[in-house]
Amino acid sequence: MESQEFRRFGKEVIDLIADYIENVRDRNVLPSVEPGYLLKMLPEEAPEQPEHWHDVVKDVHNTILPGLTHWQSPQFHAFYPAGHSYASILGSMLNDGLSIIGLSWKASPVCTELEVITMNWFGKLLGLPEEFLNCSPGPGGGVIQGSASESTLIALLVAKDKTIRRLNIVDHIDDEDEIKPKLVAYTSDQCNSSVEKAGLLGSMKIKLLKTDANGRLRGETLKKAIEEDKAMGLIPCFVTATLGTTATCAFDPLYELGPICNRENVWLHVDAAYAGPVFMCPEYRHLMKGIEYVSSIVTNPHKWMLVNFDCSAMWLKDGRDIKRAFDVKRIYLDDTENNLNIPDYRHWQIPLGRRFRSLKLWTVMRIHGAEGLRKHIRSQISLALHFAKLVGADDRFLIEPEPSMGLVCFRLKDGDKTTQQLLENLTRKKKIFMVAGLYRTRYVIRFVVCSALTTKEDVEYSWDVIKIETDLMYTNLIH
Ligand code: PLP
Repeated sequence: MESQEFRRFGKEVIDLIADYIENVRDRNVLPSVEPGYLLKMLPEEAPEQPEHWHDVVKDVHNTILPGLTHWQSPQFHAFYPAGHSYASILGSMLNDGLSIIGLSWKASPVCTELEVITMNWFGKLLGLPEEFLNCSPGPGGGVIQGSASESTLIALLVAKDKTIRRLNIVDHIDDEDEIKPKLVAYTSDQCNSSVEKAGLLGSMKIKLLKTDANGRLRGETLKKAIEEDKAMGLIPCFVTATLGTTATCAFDPLYELGPICNRENVWLHVDAAYAGPVFMCPEYRHLMKGIEYVSSIVTNPHKWMLVNFDCSAMWLKDGRDIKRAFDVKRIYLDDTENNLNIPDYRHWQIPLGRRFRSLKLWTVMRIHGAEGLRKHIRSQISLALHFAKLVGADDRFLIEPEPSMGLVCFRLKDGDKTTQQLLENLTRKKKIFMVAGLYRTRYVIRFVVCSALTTKEDVEYSWDVIKIETDLMYTNLIH
């Protein structure tokens, strides 16, 4: 494809995307395809001869769009949001168009420097302590990873390396093979699957500790687990606390967990994948009380902050730890440190190559402004509260636990089986999409305000669909 064609077809693709988003509300949120549908529609071999772009677009309409679950639909209330905005898409296009790989400062100075700047901007907006920011005099800093899963794995690996070094130096235990099997990580039974996976990938035992009635990991529980493990000769190494759990959006009390971790030389990592952006609004900052005890934190602008996947923001209090853990030298990478405290980000991540992800964070922060982003967060919370009010007025339903951020968990008073039946019926009809969660072993339906397009009328529409299905279900039960 030559540049003239690219100019023409590129504009058509922009129109296609804008048309899709403008009209997404009119589609069923769930697709009507059976497993394997695409295998039947597309050829088994790649085309031998070049094809025309218009034929590709035709297939996008006929074969690709029918297989989409519409994450940007205002009737998508499942999981957590997939960030989306035109500002972000333009940033992503610039990234693809400029096509650099920022594996070192020299490989494209702007890639490193814009990342440092945007991570400082974002960290300041969240009200993070200065020591996490690259612009502070200390060794802290931020980096953009691909996912919260990756960030948590990286934090665990760095904690492992740091603990082994400390035991080498302080306790003179030279044999790493003696230390490694004794290392233990802790998190709560409400942790995201990615935290447990980090333990598997990082070959570290991980204990899922029991949470309190509100789904929070309490200091006493952690303290007891650490004491028991130490008495058995194990070495506590890593804790992941969650600010905004996946099931119910609960917030672990960092002010209880932090002092224990600091006293025990245990790395405290915070998974705020979904809820982190709420700290841009000062009225929610009390939920991160104790953040000063933390070693690393991750939140995903690609969830709740209008940035398209993938963009996972991670800060470390001491960037030297990660460099020590992941530094592998090669002459062709020419590792000369500059004296401006600009990190060599290849030491801060798993791959060597890096996308220019900060471009989309930059375009979103500039086009929406901090005020626009705070407005987005507050409006999504108030839409969730509106939904909770509608559910609360129907005495067949219970809201449990209290709504948190953009999430409302609810169930039928009749019990788990009827609630599950309701969700299955709704999913089969494809008009709204929600998934289940567990609250204190009870089956609940999770309703999340996900799409940035969602309005009060959309929330009322979703509630009407739920109410009509419930009426129908009870009528059928009676007959
Ligand atoms: N942590 C929490 C609390 C989450 O809710 C999720 C996903 O929803 C993740 C981690 C995983 O995020 P990612 O897909 O970026 O790895």
